[in-house]
Amino acid sequence: MTLVCPTCSREHGDDARFCESCAVPLVFEGGPGEAQVTERQARARKINKQYLEGDLVRVAVGRQQAEAELIQNLLLEEGVPSTLRRTRGFDVPEMLFAGPRDVLVPQSGEEIAREMLSRAERPWRPTQHPRGVKPIAWTLLALFCIGFAAWVVNAIIG
Ligand SMILES: [Zn+2]
Repeated sequence: MTLVCPTCSREHGDDARFCESCAVPLVFEGGPGEAQVTERQARARKINKQYLEGDLVRVAVGRQQAEAELIQNLLLEEGVPSTLRRTRGFDVPEMLFAGPRDVLVPQSGEEIAREMLSRAERPWRPTQHPRGVKPIAWTLLALFCIGFAAWVVNAIIG
């Protein structure tokens, strides 16, 4: 059994725990998990190394795990590696295995990822922040107060 990197499939010595170039934890090739490793290698072969640079940035949000994986596969078609993270604000225990997932790609792959997603049959538009409910509530409250004050003034004068 040899230690390989699940991202770039580079082989490492027995004492290595992380890939020298990708810094991801190494996995054993061969043995019971062989099918999984082969699948990983197939994915790794698709990944374009130039898109491995930079910090992770969010390019899309899947409404649940399955949709997020669909987006990942789409990105992989162009060689863009991605990782999933539970969308912040939805991390209550019941939502652990449900709920939306952020799709993150390295910064060097952001541009092509965004371009691809905008061309996708079903465009995923994640980037804008969720519209604030509070400003709307405050505006309505302010309008109500103004209306009430006007009614009071009117009642006193009239
Ligand atoms: Zn690697």
